[in-house]
Amino acid sequence: TKWVYGFGSQVNEGHAGMKALLGGKGANLAEMAGIGLPVPPGFTLTTDVCVAYYRDGRRYPDGLRTQVEDALAQVESQVGARFGDPSGPLLVSVRSGAQVSMPGMMDTVLNLGLNDETVRGLAVQSGDERFAWDSYRRFIQMYGSVVLGISHHLFEDVIEARKSALDLTEDTELSAADWREVVSFYQDIVRQETGQAFPQTPRDQLWGAIGAVFGSWMNPRAITYRRLHDIPAEWGTAVNVQAMVFGNMGEDCATGVCFTRDPSTGENVFYGEYLVNAQGEDVVAGIRTPQPMSEARAKPGEISMEKALPGAYAELLHVREMLEAHYRDMQDIEFTVQRNTLYMLQTRTGKRTAAAALRIAVDMAEAGQISHEEAILRVPPASLDQLLHPALDPEAERVRIARGLPASPGAASGALVFTAEEVEARALKGEDVILARVETSPEDVHGMHAARGVLTTRGGMTSHAAVVARGMGRVCVAGAGDIRIDYKAGTLTADGHVLRRGDWITLDGGTGEVFLGRVATVEPRLSGDFATLMGWADSVRRLGVRANAETPDDAATARRFGAEGIGLCRTEHMFFAPDRIGAVRRMILAPDAAGRRAALDDLMPFQRADFAALFRIMAGLPVTVRLLDPPLHEFLPHGDAELAEVARGLSLSLEEARARVAALSESNPMLGHRGCRLGVTAPEIYAMQVRAVLEAAVAVARETGEIVRPEIMIPLVGMETELAYTRGEAEKVAAGVEGLDGHVDYSIGTMIELPRAALTADRIAAHADFFSFGTNDLTQTVFGLSRDDAGSFLPTYVEKGLLPKDPFVSIDFEGVGEIVAIAARKGRQVKPTLKMGICGEHGGDPASIAFCEKIGLDYVSCSPYRVPVARLAAAQAAL
Ligand code: ADP
Ligand code: MG
Ligand code: MG
Repeated sequence: TKWVYGFGSQVNEGHAGMKALLGGKGANLAEMAGIGLPVPPGFTLTTDVCVAYYRDGRRYPDGLRTQVEDALAQVESQVGARFGDPSGPLLVSVRSGAQVSMPGMMDTVLNLGLNDETVRGLAVQSGDERFAWDSYRRFIQMYGSVVLGISHHLFEDVIEARKSALDLTEDTELSAADWREVVSFYQDIVRQETGQAFPQTPRDQLWGAIGAVFGSWMNPRAITYRRLHDIPAEWGTAVNVQAMVFGNMGEDCATGVCFTRDPSTGENVFYGEYLVNAQGEDVVAGIRTPQPMSEARAKPGEISMEKALPGAYAELLHVREMLEAHYRDMQDIEFTVQRNTLYMLQTRTGKRTAAAALRIAVDMAEAGQISHEEAILRVPPASLDQLLHPALDPEAERVRIARGLPASPGAASGALVFTAEEVEARALKGEDVILARVETSPEDVHGMHAARGVLTTRGGMTSHAAVVARGMGRVCVAGAGDIRIDYKAGTLTADGHVLRRGDWITLDGGTGEVFLGRVATVEPRLSGDFATLMGWADSVRRLGVRANAETPDDAATARRFGAEGIGLCRTEHMFFAPDRIGAVRRMILAPDAAGRRAALDDLMPFQRADFAALFRIMAGLPVTVRLLDPPLHEFLPHGDAELAEVARGLSLSLEEARARVAALSESNPMLGHRGCRLGVTAPEIYAMQVRAVLEAAVAVARETGEIVRPEIMIPLVGMETELAYTRGEAEKVAAGVEGLDGHVDYSIGTMIELPRAALTADRIAAHADFFSFGTNDLTQTVFGLSRDDAGSFLPTYVEKGLLPKDPFVSIDFEGVGEIVAIAARKGRQVKPTLKMGICGEHGGDPASIAFCEKIGLDYVSCSPYRVPVARLAAAQAAL
């Protein structure tokens, strides 16, 4: 078996396509060498070595040692120096590198091969004693902490003591003699901490470091990281051994890290940092302040690489172009300059913000570097979420006082308020307010809606506050545990600041940060790159994208985000407004049909106006109106005052009214008297709603001259007879509405949200013009799992791997998905033109959208803020 692959300008046995075997770093080093970039030669021990090592009880496979010896000899001959040669040694770095980049693995060890003898050879060979001893102390320090497990503080303390004794601030000011002394202190530390002398044999050092890389694959940090990112342990890591080049040999040397484009904005500028006379991780370690790459970006007092090392910089610019042309994507690169000669040490696809991903994809497609399809596939749909909300102005000053969970994205500022009532009162006056609570409950929902943002000190990403805020597109920081809220005193304390009611704060729901005062924000840009990419996505997707919306506000947002209609308008959300809840309650508690009808007559104009507003905004696009669905008790009066009011309205005594309320109580309301069951027992409710829909449609059609397309949707149908009956009733109403002909294109369909409905979908389809899969309830009923109670055990299922994901967030393909597929097939069997869509949480989830594409649904419907996510996900699913 071949366990070792060489890379470099002479022996180059790998390429970028071999990441599984060589790891990302090794494969890309070979690729760079292959296209003629200056890569110091080296070799990669494959991930198969790691796999074999663990399979055989931590023993290396036969033949490995010989192959390493041969590869090392190759490197020696290319560099022209021998490993361990006291008169001028080859030094190497040992670098880990799994298939995907993985923090938690062993850190790199540099300058390996130095010992008390070779360090002198290095000094002679380089003509720089200081450099040699600095390199040696770095090696002992890295090897000591990374391989021998000695706390790095012990080493750092030595340097600090040295500098303060000499009254110096910078490491670079220490002399050769100082470093030599540091080395002897370091060796004492190693002896004390391990009971053994620092290993002096270069080959022992090498195998020590290789063993540490393979060992680190199973360390707890790496295991945790793999679990969080779904990386299988079977992949294993590779080890790269590479000839050293030196950025710490003087002022004509440097090391740096850069991106071929700006990773936060995506702008097509060379972006990065470097340090003169430095090595390895100095740039990121924060010991010295790194300097900018380009002169254009240099602030006063900074020295750009462009200015300090113009030759190497020009060469690097050339490399930048070559890499982008070759990889056709933004790259994150690491380089070192040794005596004005540039060496490339790493390249990989650069991580980027959502904004940058968008811009880079569009820029590269427009420049002809990638196709439109590739551009569409380059942007993760879920990341768009970050772009659709106002963001903190990156230039703005800020004082952070706390950090919680990034529960709902966007940035918002406002006056601090502690109760939902006060939020509403202030919002009515046009004030911007932030609601801060220890936690929130359903009573706070109206206040959350009126607030700019919500802050809680308790609860997680699925706490009430987080879920509700995400649904309404409100900014939310949840579970900021370091904040103290004192409701009585009306204060919020964080990081030593005591804020009172009315003081301003700013939330960043994308990072979970909380700031003092008002931090300037910038509005999302729905034009430019965003619009361009969305246009491309729209031209390739097959699935339609609609929104779930009831209020004119939400409907308008949905349109702005490109919704092609409303897929779910939950009429009951219109019932809670203060001007109608009274009539709703009278309708529910009325002792007879006549009383119910009187209350419904009062409600009718409100509903008609609501629907008319939606039809106007949706201008000719379909609007699916779901008839009343929830159990009626949700609307019941709270407390005696409210009850008395309803009783008065119905000419009942308080006692009678109370008895009516009691009669409505159910032990399992979600499976109780709701949905079309209400339509069966109290047909006048649906009759009123259908009339309101159709009359509004006629009115708007006349007003605008456009055809209005209402889709009347009957919820919770389980039997064909239920739909046949409610449809019949609706048609009777329609027959009495004038002006439908020619102006209104209405249809009647049903939600498929019960297993029985799905399994008898062929029969049900006979009475339906469309199906909308209500996958929230369907998940609930297929699993026999109450959505409202699942929070106490579902997370444990996911944690223990019994479920891959929360099935309410991402559709359960095997169970719920299968039943959806069955229903879709049966429905189309009897009615090939049956329109089918999905509504509910899954409609905005990329994985679920891919599933909808696969089974050939016509559209998905999701919350307004998810519409762009769904458009992009639908396009990706179609490609
Ligand atoms: P990480 O995965 O943490 O980035 P690397 O293996 O890339 O670790 O090493 C970190 C840094 O060490 C590199 O960016 C580079 O500056 C330095 N380094 C690694 N190998 C060499 C080498 N052969 N010569 C010079 N510097 C090196
Ligand atoms: Mg590192
Ligand atoms: Mg690196």
